[in-house]
Amino acid sequence: MPPNPSYLRSRQLLATPLSHIKGVGPRLQQILAKANLTTVEDVLYHLPHRYEDRREIRRIAQLRDGRQEVFVGEVLASAETFTPKARKRIYEVVVADGSGQISLKWFHYRKDWMKKRFAVGTRAVFTGEIKRFGLVREVHHPDAEILGAKSLDQIMAEDPWSFGRILPVYPLTEGLSQKVARKIFKQVVDQFAPLAVSPIPADILQRNQILPLAQALAECHWPEDPGAHLDLETGSGRARSALVFDEFFFLELGLALKRRGVVLEPGIAFAVTHKYTRPLAQMLPFRLTAAQRRVLGEIKHDMMAPHPMNRLVQGDVGSGKTIVALMAALVAIENHTQVAVVAPTEILAEQHYLQFHGWLEKLGLRAALLSGSLSSKEKSALHEKIRAGEVDLVVGTHAVLQQGVAFQRLGLGIIDEQHRFGVLQRGLLRHKGENPDILVMTATPIPRTLSLTLYGDLALSVIDELPPGRTPVKTRVLSESRREEGYRLIKKEIEKGRQAYIVYPLVEESEKSELQAASAAAQALQAEVFPHHRVGLLHGRLKPQEKEAVMAAFKNREIDVLVATTVIEVGIDIPNASVMLIEHAERFGLAQLHQLRGRVGRGAEQSHCLLMQSARCSSDGKRRLEVMAETSDGFRIAEADLEIRGPGEFLGTRQAGLPDFRVANLLRDGRMLEAAREEAFRLAQDPALMSHAQYADTRQALMDRWGSRLELATIG
Ligand code: ADP
Ligand code: MG
Repeated sequence: MPPNPSYLRSRQLLATPLSHIKGVGPRLQQILAKANLTTVEDVLYHLPHRYEDRREIRRIAQLRDGRQEVFVGEVLASAETFTPKARKRIYEVVVADGSGQISLKWFHYRKDWMKKRFAVGTRAVFTGEIKRFGLVREVHHPDAEILGAKSLDQIMAEDPWSFGRILPVYPLTEGLSQKVARKIFKQVVDQFAPLAVSPIPADILQRNQILPLAQALAECHWPEDPGAHLDLETGSGRARSALVFDEFFFLELGLALKRRGVVLEPGIAFAVTHKYTRPLAQMLPFRLTAAQRRVLGEIKHDMMAPHPMNRLVQGDVGSGKTIVALMAALVAIENHTQVAVVAPTEILAEQHYLQFHGWLEKLGLRAALLSGSLSSKEKSALHEKIRAGEVDLVVGTHAVLQQGVAFQRLGLGIIDEQHRFGVLQRGLLRHKGENPDILVMTATPIPRTLSLTLYGDLALSVIDELPPGRTPVKTRVLSESRREEGYRLIKKEIEKGRQAYIVYPLVEESEKSELQAASAAAQALQAEVFPHHRVGLLHGRLKPQEKEAVMAAFKNREIDVLVATTVIEVGIDIPNASVMLIEHAERFGLAQLHQLRGRVGRGAEQSHCLLMQSARCSSDGKRRLEVMAETSDGFRIAEADLEIRGPGEFLGTRQAGLPDFRVANLLRDGRMLEAAREEAFRLAQDPALMSHAQYADTRQALMDRWGSRLELATIG
């Protein structure tokens, strides 16, 4: 092997365009480009999604039931047939090798193509799982590689790479066969994998027994010594682990530096004077739960420190995060600084405003709502007040983060329901003051591996206790035919003096038709189902004052049934509402259903949630609704959600401002993530990291992966 190039040189070499590779002409180049493969590096990281074990080619008579096997056979018969039992057409090919014969079946196929490909007399290498039905053995949808006229021995001699070893199977790319992919990629891997250099410090690699990057890449494509090291079906093994570690390490190092950067900067050291917090505690109609008190203690501890707080409060729906935030706000105000509260929607901002305003007023303090509905004159007047420090607490949507908004002295920024915001928004808020404290609140209970990633730069507090006297919501899944049952339950609750939500999903492509659906439904419900009760309508298209009026009417019990689109998803707090019916429930994600359901069950009495499942519900949809009926534990729901949807969608990684993963999988690779995090956080403590020449490559790699998202300037 040539000596390793430097990291930068290695990066340059791996950026070589594929057109420089022998055998890659313009046509192939185009096909590869369609699969986002344009450089050598792209190919190196385009890993096989599984492997085929061709170390042993079996005689057909010796094929083992239930195993993935490789065999060579000649086509004896090839035809489309009709199975009367399944009432379906299938394509069947019978192959033999002198020792026996076996039937190959396809259930999805193009007939003409199959006929041509598997003409009688054709010889091919087949791979697939051997199934036995009584005396008959079959393989369904086998992989096939046509051998042509040559003998197997001849072919094995000519093409030793395709036989007698473990072969990579690449994710399918249109216009590119496995055979061509293997040939081209092999050249790339042979020539360039040895040039890959990881800038992770050597002692860290050693301690964690991580293969050198060059070796890991080569082994991922062409495993040398499989056995215990490699799972053929999933590709996991020491080679893949090395790539995963590499990705996680730089992710976590970036997060660690962000956190360290913030922690080390000077911040405001607040004094806890109890001037407002004590009177508030005395006014509250309840005592804080032990969990609320513990979390508040953690927050106060951070606020008193002379560095900026950067803390995430996680607490299930209804766990009482708002009051904790209010207490923190009062500490900031006691110290003559201002507070900004950022909510994901107008409606939630309004709701928060009403709550905060209510309490602050009693304490002689001033809250303001920076609403989207303000006229530009009102807005600039409010901006002026905020700048002059005449407002103690401002609530709003991301409007608060906009440029025109400047504070006289911002002490604390609170972001509610963080899952809607990303890392970047936190940065914006921070720049509204001189290193104000930041408190983030989320109801999404994020599985540990994910919270390490998504919130890796935040300290975590968990409110793991609900206020006493809550009764878990009874949840049932109802099919269309049992709709009447749902309405009867709603009527019964209303007659007891309670209120109901009926929720419609965002269904159509256009918000307008969704709206029409909701308003038509509201009218029909009023006229036909609830003629003796008052039906109201709340949707995202209403003007803020209109929304507020509807919410106020509902709060004052002037509305019995509130028909709503998902605008009520987050944070709405009306304890008297005891039943929620969700239309087309299968169209919602689990996290959303959990949030929605959290709008009921806020009082001591029994509440109900009815999930209407339509006839055409997918199996994923059914699974989601089952999970909802089974548990109200937000943590279990989040895990199920993650399993059903996969982490990419769950997190919206991009949107969250995190680098993408090429290899790592947050679900599968949790253990690696923790190991990488531990090392990265330790290295981040080392003052040499940001200055020493020894770490120049590590720093460079960090910049490469994170780009501007790291705001390295603030770290220096
Ligand atoms: P979330 O954590 O979902 O934001 P909220 O802060 O909206 O929850 O609180 C839910 C409800 O519980 C509110 O009506 C709030 O007044 C009430 N609450 C909060 N803390 C307590 C407590 N310690 N005891 C009783 N009720 C509480
Ligand atoms: Mg809340």
